[in-house]
Amino acid sequence: MFSRNMVLRSVELPIRAKFQDRFELFPLSKAAILHETGDAVEWVYFPETGLIGLASETSGGESAQCATVGYDGAVGVFEACGSRRVFHRAQVQVPGRAWRARAGTYRELFDQSESLRTSVHKLVEVLLAESRQYVACNALHSLQSRLARLLVDVQDKGQCGDTLPLTQDALAQMLGVQRTSVALAVASLQKAGVVRRGRGALAIADRSGLEREACSCRETLTFARDEIYASFDTACDA
Ligand SMILES: [Zn+2]
Repeated sequence: MFSRNMVLRSVELPIRAKFQDRFELFPLSKAAILHETGDAVEWVYFPETGLIGLASETSGGESAQCATVGYDGAVGVFEACGSRRVFHRAQVQVPGRAWRARAGTYRELFDQSESLRTSVHKLVEVLLAESRQYVACNALHSLQSRLARLLVDVQDKGQCGDTLPLTQDALAQMLGVQRTSVALAVASLQKAGVVRRGRGALAIADRSGLEREACSCRETLTFARDEIYASFDTACDA
């Protein structure tokens, strides 16, 4: 089973071969909901391409995205081995495809693969680093610079081309702000010549310029991820 997904790639080849028939390639269709808050974990997802957004909800029914998962992460890996229940909504943000397995299959794989256990531990560290950084980011950085950082992250994590299939409603939800605020921030980035608005999409017109507009959290988190993954063995497919 060839996989681009960094978590799945960490599994030792003989073990991966043993489990490959119990994995299936699943299409991540636009805006599909993979699970809702409170659901039992049925499947664990390892994105190959595309992006899955994890959103936390308030008791009033509002929600804001708290993490995005691309080829460098997985959905359900912690909960499948823990409470077996999820406390967020997982929804496709950028279409693509993912390998998926039943939660029970994943638990067997987790028990047998030492490399997988190590990479999941590293994933916990990365997600904690991101969560802490984004709390600071939300409090201290301008919406325009946060939006620029988000767009660069979406292009990288979702392995997208220059056109990102994101509406302004989706961006507002990802940033946890009103749509009108996002519209103003997009207009500013467009005026700076780094993005172009399209129908239901946003195009990156100048990637280097967009990186310069992005808040410093991108650099901070790139450093943290590099440090955490420094010993990550992705040579299994070589
Ligand atoms: Zn920031």
